[in-house]
Amino acid sequence: MCLIWACTKYLARRNPKIFVRISHPTAVLFVIVTTIFFVVLQMFYVVPQLFDVQGFMYKLGWLVAIFITYNIFGNMLACHITSTSVESLPKDRQIPEPEEEHQWHYCDVCEKLMPPRSWHCILCKCCILKRDRHCIFTASCVGHNNQRYFFWFTLFMALGTGVALATHIIATLKYFSYSDLIFLNIPRDNLPPFWLVITLILNTYVFAAPVSSVLMQLSVLKNNGTLHKFYSDTYDLGLWENFKLILGGKGFWTFLSPTVKSPLPHDGAQWKIKRVQHHSPKLQFLRVSD
Ligand SMILES: [Zn+2]
Ligand SMILES: [Zn+2]
Repeated sequence: MCLIWACTKYLARRNPKIFVRISHPTAVLFVIVTTIFFVVLQMFYVVPQLFDVQGFMYKLGWLVAIFITYNIFGNMLACHITSTSVESLPKDRQIPEPEEEHQWHYCDVCEKLMPPRSWHCILCKCCILKRDRHCIFTASCVGHNNQRYFFWFTLFMALGTGVALATHIIATLKYFSYSDLIFLNIPRDNLPPFWLVITLILNTYVFAAPVSSVLMQLSVLKNNGTLHKFYSDTYDLGLWENFKLILGGKGFWTFLSPTVKSPLPHDGAQWKIKRVQHHSPKLQFLRVSD
């Protein structure tokens, strides 16, 4: 995994233009094809092995599948089209106030001062507000304005592949008797179909990727950090405040749909940090540069 990560980074730095041209459509197409493949596989082949296709549970299965698929594609698209570059700020906010100037830093590529926590992306060719990462699966940078969509995109991918994996396992176990399972016997007759075993293995692999991404994001978000500064808790304002900074005022209701309006608490150009005052248990918040 680390080797793939290192190779991808190397190729991106070596020729950003070609990397974007090849990796973006390939990765986006991979997500679309994989999602549609697993929905069709689940709803037409795996779930009918567990429930009657005329029954309530099968219809409920379709509702869950549509909700998850809608949120995967909806959040993926929203993450792509929501600009989180410094240029997305109103023109007057792209220049620091006199009292903020010492907190901003100079970007050699853009050749101007940039707000705290923003930094340059060679693939997007601009500075990104609270840049977390560049994601080829959404073909965009993930930062202050679109982190909510990225979070739900990966979470719904994990949820979808997780539900698919669970039904896959149950459908496969139906071919084994209790004694087979206890004594780890493979039944001689009534074997699970070959396609079910192969797609179960595939499902396990596609489940691992979004789950590890969600776990990584949660460990970063609990400190209000970024992937770039994984262990930093400089901007940690407490768990709920940290989540509100990415999900906005509606908080976890944004789970329902990417169309739920949930304004962020600020524009991403000013950041509060926590500082524990000596002899005082209270937190004090200051604006500082990254
Ligand atoms: Zn820049
Ligand atoms: Zn980028």
